[in-house]
Amino acid sequence: MSAALDSGRAASLVAPSTSPEIVLTVDRIRCDGFGMCAELLPELVDLDDWGYPIIRAMAVTDDLLGHARRAVEACPVLALRLRAAAASMPGRG
Ligand code: SF4
Repeated sequence: MSAALDSGRAASLVAPSTSPEIVLTVDRIRCDGFGMCAELLPELVDLDDWGYPIIRAMAVTDDLLGHARRAVEACPVLALRLRAAAASMPGRG
């Protein structure tokens, strides 16, 4: 990946989004802790001491949406999802 793309991704952390808020979620029952999502999307995913993902509590910015979609598609057990922010709130599924 080029340095120009890297700096663009870093800038997206502070750029406001004009789209409805999308959040990344993980199904902790399905997740096997391969850690691929953290490698593909370090802006939104950290790993705990056992290699399981910790998703940052922030909306997926427009600049990161493509990367987030690739991380979702790459998860070998289909544990990652992109959802509208309201759908991920407690009690709403
Ligand atoms: S890529 Fe999927 S299985 Fe691997 S740590 Fe991330 S959510 Fe879990």
